[in-house]
Amino acid sequence: MSEVRENLNKIKEEIEAEVKACGRKAGSVKLLAVSKFHSEEEIEEAIKAGQKAFGENRVQEAYSKFSNLKKTYPDLEVHIIGQLQRNKVKKAIEIASVIESIDRIELLEEIEKHAAAMQKEVQVYFELLTGEDSKSGFASEEELLKAIDFCSKGKTPHIIPKGFMTMAPFTDDKEKIQASFRRLIKLSKKAKEVYPELELSELSMGMSGDFPIAIKEGSTQVRVGTAIFGERNYNKDK
Ligand SMILES: *Cc1c(COP(=O)(O)O)cnc(C)c1O
Repeated sequence: MSEVRENLNKIKEEIEAEVKACGRKAGSVKLLAVSKFHSEEEIEEAIKAGQKAFGENRVQEAYSKFSNLKKTYPDLEVHIIGQLQRNKVKKAIEIASVIESIDRIELLEEIEKHAAAMQKEVQVYFELLTGEDSKSGFASEEELLKAIDFCSKGKTPHIIPKGFMTMAPFTDDKEKIQASFRRLIKLSKKAKEVYPELELSELSMGMSGDFPIAIKEGSTQVRVGTAIFGERNYNKDK
């Protein structure tokens, strides 16, 4: 058995064990395999082991790997999870159906413009900055709510506001990690009260080091890279 397949099976078992342990419904937490800095060959191993949803940080990298893979595996689902520049939006939505790193209104305007031209629907997650290690995300909850408001006015018919994303700080302090997830949950509850017409049902939180905590707190999607594909080699030019 390949290492990727083995790791993937192990993570899926761990997710389901945690889901069961906290009395949640089986299958209620989705696994996004974060394949940034990993090769097409490694991704293909994961695909062959049954994985369909992948997360990438950088648009160019996502595009070069997945435009190829999608020819062979048309039902792959690509999520952009890293900070997105306005000039990369068009390419991002050519390859990805989900953008999880919405951190300003300007991005929503740009996504709507290109999605309308391509006659495509794009799912978005609003990212909240809750840990000092993340480079993206709304620093202010008020600004994040304004961005949701922007999508509630019928101005963005090609954007589907799916939910929220955050990255907890890299620390062994479980309470700090919990606090980060709880801030996101609190904000999501508030947003759902104010905008009941929007779906906003997803909570993308939890990574290799902290996904069991995230599941306990209510995550609906964990984004796991290292525990599936191994350490990333940042020196490799990708
Ligand atoms: C890289 C990354 C992940 C995956 O991190 P691992 O620790 O390798 O599991 C998840 N979410 C975001 C936003 C990332 O940038």
